[in-house]
Amino acid sequence: MEENKKIEKTMDDIISLSKRKGFVYQGSEIYGGLAGAFDFGPLGVELLNNIRSFWWKEVVQKREDYYGLDSAMFKHPKVWEASGHTSGFSDPLAECRNCNTRIRVDKELMNIGVVADEKMSEEEINKLFEENKDKIKCHNCGKKDFSRARNFNMLIKSNYGDFTEKGSEPVYLPGEACQGIYLNFKNVIDSMHPKFPFGIAQINKAFRNEISPRNFLFRCREFEQADTQYFIRPNENKDKYEEIKQERWQWYLDLGLSEEKLRWHQHENLVFYAKDAWDIEYNYPTYGFDELEGIHDRTDYDLTQHSKFSGVDLSFNEDGNKFVPWILETSVGLGRIFLAVLSEAYTKEQVGDETRVVLKFPKKLAPIKVAFLPLSKKDELAEPTKELFNSMKDKFVCQYDETQSIGKRYRRQDEIGTPYCVTFDFDSLEDNSVTVRDRDTMEQERIKIEELEDYLTTKLNN
Ligand code: ATP
Repeated sequence: MEENKKIEKTMDDIISLSKRKGFVYQGSEIYGGLAGAFDFGPLGVELLNNIRSFWWKEVVQKREDYYGLDSAMFKHPKVWEASGHTSGFSDPLAECRNCNTRIRVDKELMNIGVVADEKMSEEEINKLFEENKDKIKCHNCGKKDFSRARNFNMLIKSNYGDFTEKGSEPVYLPGEACQGIYLNFKNVIDSMHPKFPFGIAQINKAFRNEISPRNFLFRCREFEQADTQYFIRPNENKDKYEEIKQERWQWYLDLGLSEEKLRWHQHENLVFYAKDAWDIEYNYPTYGFDELEGIHDRTDYDLTQHSKFSGVDLSFNEDGNKFVPWILETSVGLGRIFLAVLSEAYTKEQVGDETRVVLKFPKKLAPIKVAFLPLSKKDELAEPTKELFNSMKDKFVCQYDETQSIGKRYRRQDEIGTPYCVTFDFDSLEDNSVTVRDRDTMEQERIKIEELEDYLTTKLNN
C-alpha cells in the first residue's frame, strides 16, 4: 500500500493533543497552574502504566539477578547528608537584574555550544558565564544583564514529623529514587540471599527544585524515576558496564523507539567518585537530542558513605571474602520516556485532501486496544455492539463509542492511538460478522464474531 505523505510535527502539536485528548494536563490548572507539576489524564495514566509494566517486566520479572523494591519516599535526614545531597545537590542559578527571572546557567551555556555542567565549581561556571555574557538573553525580557551564578540546592524540604514549627532537622522529599535501594541493600541480602553479582530495581518519585522547569514533561519538579543499581565486585566494572549499556539501548528499541533517534553521550566532567557516565539521548521534536537515561559507574561511594553515616556494615561477604560492592546505576525519568513514546507515535499525514493525526503507538503501549462502534446509534445496532463490548472488556482495554459519524469516530480513535476499531453494521445482524479496521493501514477486514477474540489477541500480540 502506498504510504501517506507525512507532515512535519512539532512539540506544540504533541502538547496540544496531550491536553485535548486526556493524556497530560498542567498541574493545578484551575488555579493558574503550578510550574513543574503535571497531571496524567485518563489516557495518559494508561500509557504511563503500560510503559511502567514493560520496564518492570523486562528489568525485574524476566531477570533472575534483579530484585524489585518500593521504598518509602521519606527517608531519615542523614540519608541526604551521607549521599552528599545536602551539600552538593545544586545547580548554578543566576537572576536577570531587570525582571528577576531565574536561569540555570550551565544549561544556558550548553544551549550556545559551551561545554558546562552543574558539577563545575562556582568559579569555573562564572568564568564561562562572564566570557559568554553577550550571548545569553533573559527568556522573559530579552535583556542580557544577570547576577553572578551561585549554587542553588535542589532538595525540597518537608515538615515530616516536625510538630515544633521551629524547624528541626528537615526530612526532605527524595531528590532521586536510588537512595531507597542503598538503604535496603542489607535487607535484600538477608531476606533473599542473592547470588553475587545482583541488581535491585525500583520505580519511585523524585522531587527537585528545578530552577527553570520547562519543556513540558522533560524538566519537572516532581517526576518518577525508574532505577536499577547493580552490585559488583570491586573493579569488575568494565565488562558489566558495557553489558548494561547495551541492555538499556536494546530496551528502548524493544519499547518501540527508532534507533536513528537515539544516541550516546559520554560525560566529560565526572563527579569525584565516579569512573564513567553515559547518557542515552533521544531526538525530541523541537527540543532536539537531550538526555533520556543516565548510566553511571559509581564505584563503592554509595555503600561506603551509608556505612560511615549509619554505622552499619554494608559490605558483602562472599565465601569469607568481604568487600564493599561497586555500583553500576541506570536511571531514567518515566516522563521523559512517555514524551519520547508520544513523540515517536505522533504522526500527521495527508490522506487524500484531509490531514489525519494518528498516534502510531506500539500495540503493547496503546492506552485503548479496541474500540467498539455501532454503525449508527439505533438500538438494533447499539445493543448488540454494547453486548460485544461487554464480552471483551475483560480481555482487552476497550472503549465503546456511538456519537457522530463512523468516519469521525475512526479519526478520534486514530488520535488516541487505538490499534483496532470494530464496527457492527446492519449486515452484522445477518452474517454475524463485524468489520475490523486497522489504525495504521486503515484497511478493513470482515471477521466472524465467534472468531473476533482470537483474531484480536493474535493481532495485538504481533
Ligand atoms: P539533567 O542534566 O537533565 O538535569 P541529570 O543528569 O541531573 O539530568 P540524573 O540525576 O542523572 O539527571 O537523573 C536521572 C534521570 O532522571 C535523567 O536521565 C532523567 O531521565 C530524569 N530526570 C532528572 N531530572 C528530571 C526532571 N527535572 N524532570 C524529569 N525527569 C528528570
